[in-house]
Amino acid sequence: MGVGRIIKVSGPLVVAENMQDAKMYDVVRVSEERLIGEIIELHGDKASIQVYEETGGIGPGEPVYLTGAPLSVELGPGLIESIYDGIQRPLDVIEAQVGNYITRGVEANALDRDKKWDFVPKVKVGDQVVAGDILGTVQETTPVEHRIMVPIGLEGEVAEIYSGSATVTDVIAKIKTETGLKEVTMMQKWPVRRGRPYKVKLPPEEVMTTGQRVIDMFFPVAKGGTACIPGPFGSGKTVVQHQLAKWADAEIVVYIGCGERGNEMTDVLLEFPQLEDPKTGEPLMKRTVLIANTSNMPVAAREASIYTGITIAEYFRDMGYSVALMADSTSRWAEALREMSGRLEEMPGEEGYPAYLGSRVAEFYERAGRVTCLGSDERVGALTAVGAVSPPGGDLSEPVTQSTLRVVKVFWSLDAPLAYARHFPAIHWLLSYSLYLDNIDEYLRRELGDDWIDMRVESMRLLQQESELQEIVRLVGVDSLSARERLILETARSIREDFLLQNAFHDVDTYCSLEKQKLMMKLIMTFHEEALRALEREADLDKLLALPVRERIARAKYTTEEDLGQFEQILTDIQAQIAELTAVGGEDVA
Ligand code: ADP
Repeated sequence: MGVGRIIKVSGPLVVAENMQDAKMYDVVRVSEERLIGEIIELHGDKASIQVYEETGGIGPGEPVYLTGAPLSVELGPGLIESIYDGIQRPLDVIEAQVGNYITRGVEANALDRDKKWDFVPKVKVGDQVVAGDILGTVQETTPVEHRIMVPIGLEGEVAEIYSGSATVTDVIAKIKTETGLKEVTMMQKWPVRRGRPYKVKLPPEEVMTTGQRVIDMFFPVAKGGTACIPGPFGSGKTVVQHQLAKWADAEIVVYIGCGERGNEMTDVLLEFPQLEDPKTGEPLMKRTVLIANTSNMPVAAREASIYTGITIAEYFRDMGYSVALMADSTSRWAEALREMSGRLEEMPGEEGYPAYLGSRVAEFYERAGRVTCLGSDERVGALTAVGAVSPPGGDLSEPVTQSTLRVVKVFWSLDAPLAYARHFPAIHWLLSYSLYLDNIDEYLRRELGDDWIDMRVESMRLLQQESELQEIVRLVGVDSLSARERLILETARSIREDFLLQNAFHDVDTYCSLEKQKLMMKLIMTFHEEALRALEREADLDKLLALPVRERIARAKYTTEEDLGQFEQILTDIQAQIAELTAVGGEDVA
């Protein structure tokens, strides 16, 4: 393969000539230092190369070596618990090699070549297999069974199958295909910019529960769905993401840190490995892959990290897992696009972002979904993508937020004033939305009953009425309100404080099952309806609001999942206490 010559260097962009043998998105090694780069534009024999390492000191005349292969990731046992940079170099291995500061041109295998895994075969000699079929499994960590699949493009008859200890490069099976005997190892490679294939995309109709009440009840995300969360500083974005990682109904978590300011990424690197998996009591890392752009890597590497992350997530989806992918923040990725586009002297679109920003964002979220995986066993996998955006100054009209909102179906609007008032999670109930409500309606009715939906609609209506009534109160004072309107304000406050407010750091409150959410909401709504009826019978609002049972409603969130039986009693008490009050009230009137 030919060797190109550098003719121009501009930050992360290198232009080289004599590149006629190259293809778009091929990886090249730049200069004798062998910096890693990717071809992002080709004109005749000239190639524009996005370099993922600092290009200082590199100049015209130096060589560019072609590799003939696109930017790819290694997939196989050893992914879980890894911390990679944007081009899948394991940060711990590199640190051991060259210390804290990644020097240029460092190479390290993404998957450990020496580590032995215990391969348990699931097929036998003579079996017919197709791409995606599970050849065997490896218990990668306590919670994760890694399923070794027939690589894409391969099918035939199992000629040999191995059992026992093997490295990722050892041959674990031989498959007789039409074109001859093919050896299969546990490691596969896949080009990051190409979505991994599946059989069919299924409609998103199951909820990905998160145990966070404001999300599950009001703004749920479907399994295989997409969501976006803006992150004004200090509004609780990190806590929300940690809560999702811990509690979301997903077996695998892929977290892409696209690097905010340099030290924030270090925070993630320090914090994430500390998190405990509530389901197993083990470190959360035992089912997590972390992708982190360290501050000393150029912005261009952020661009790759998004693709590296989603490809790994797709690979676990293909095994039939529910995978939650979190990208923080996609705005940094878009900035990397903008920087490269500027250097390529492309026609800028809005705010200097390239005109293709929208389609790139859409392509990324397109790769989420619930699918029937390849293979003959019809297993279903899901990849749910949650992207954080960091709009400068919280201005949601800026291009990255807008292009994201055009494609994602759920928007959790983190609100700085709510966070300031210490209402956490600071997801604003009137500004957020979920477009999955229709898709998952049937599922919810089946799993939780019609009243789940009725209560959601009714309580949201009360929250909206609250904001209108508050406006009236601001203008003409609370005295202008009727008892009924004052009750609405009280119930809305109760929904906010007793239901929506959820303390991530409280042992019990940190997670709330759908069952418990339903019961909690039922208490609030039952009180509201009974109190309304009592008002019609001339009961005194202040007396209603002073009923002792209200304290029990407020404290219901601290009831453990084992004690949900207690809710029945509170419901009975609501009815009894209000009945007693109206009975007494009735005598008074008489
Ligand atoms: P950001 O990442 O947006 O800058 P953080 O996620 O670090 O903000 O949150 C800032 C602080 O807000 C946290 O340290 C915590 O004290 C508080 N906080 C955020 N969310 C919650 C929550 N769900 N429950 C309790 N406290 C929270």
